[in-house]
Amino acid sequence: MAKKIVTDLNVKGKKVLVRVDFNVPMKDGMITNDNRIVQALPTLKHLLNEGAKIIAFSHLGKVKTEEDKLTKTLKPVATRLAELLEQDVKFVPETKGAVLEAAINDMKDGQIIVFENTRFEAGETKNDPELGKYWASLGELFVNDAFGTAHRAHASNKGIAANLETAAGFLMEKEINFIGGVVEAPSRPLVAILGGAKVSDKIGVIENLIEKADKILIGGGMMFTFLKALDQNIGKSLLEEDKVALAKTLMEKAKAKGVKLILPVDVVTSKEFSNDADFRTVSVADIAPDEMGLDIGAESIALFSKELEGAKTVIWNGPMGVFEMSNFAKGTIGICETIAGLKGATTIIGGGDSAAAAMDLGFADQFTHISTGGGASLEYLEGKVLPGIESISEK
Ligand code: AMP
Repeated sequence: MAKKIVTDLNVKGKKVLVRVDFNVPMKDGMITNDNRIVQALPTLKHLLNEGAKIIAFSHLGKVKTEEDKLTKTLKPVATRLAELLEQDVKFVPETKGAVLEAAINDMKDGQIIVFENTRFEAGETKNDPELGKYWASLGELFVNDAFGTAHRAHASNKGIAANLETAAGFLMEKEINFIGGVVEAPSRPLVAILGGAKVSDKIGVIENLIEKADKILIGGGMMFTFLKALDQNIGKSLLEEDKVALAKTLMEKAKAKGVKLILPVDVVTSKEFSNDADFRTVSVADIAPDEMGLDIGAESIALFSKELEGAKTVIWNGPMGVFEMSNFAKGTIGICETIAGLKGATTIIGGGDSAAAAMDLGFADQFTHISTGGGASLEYLEGKVLPGIESISEK
């Protein structure tokens, strides 16, 4: 069943609670990257244009002590939001009580308030039903646009949704369509590219994609555990010894399902984990005992690019090498370039480090969709039901 989206709601003159993801990086009280606030604008602008009264809220960081409350305030976020919206945003430094309620009652249509960090309430992360009910009582409709926390059952998403008609915001809608689309009904061929540091972080994703994808291309640090399972010498490369048997099983499963699981044929190696040390490209069969593989080589980029030809859906999670060091970024750049050049394919980055890599390397606008969630996109790709999405009302 399809989920309600914000355009399905009649919001004029209504008090609309909006769970946004304003969990921005901060340093010394300053926002260092406002991307998450920018990403929330389409939903907020739509609601303002429709004459809603917006009550927006989010968590910010982890709140463990009373001192955390001094640095984890959403006040700077409300200030930045006002600049981006070019309109007043009232910040209420409360998470409940008479001051917040009075501020909401004073609102006029087309106005917006932001209230304080939801994690200042201990009941938030426990999904305390009373807290969810209380927050729900502050509004008449609920819009959830915070995909980044969709894998958590918290009072500010699932708790409120249990008490109010709930719709997805535009950002959440995109994630449901793209990441949800990959796991539910992808256009084929579906090619998955998986990399990053460890197999152990992505076991669930690989297992689920073996059921869904036509091909799986594996790079990054995790490739060495697979190569080890094929009895290759991997020198000092990253290895998860306790996952070698699992890697073998995954390769057998893929084979049994008729899914092509493809490993790199060459790697860029170095004797040290450093951008200053010498490096060379060797066949995967020729990694010396004192070398570690830190990127995929040119032949592997060409091989992966060939396998990507004709793909209708591409999902990518995890860099191909240690892209933070320029000597080992070429694999990730090469794959970015290939994906960017694919014609007629829906291309998706499933969050986390690969999203950061694509943005850092200047490819952000060349993908169909870059997921805003790290943990949430991984769990979605694992095929798990995400509480934040499940709790959105059906159409
Ligand atoms: P993940 O968060 O699992 O996507 O992992 C991303 C991290 O994997 C990045 O910081 C990369 O530097 C690292 N990585 C990628 N390839 C390798 C490799 N061959 N050896 C060690 N680390 C790697």
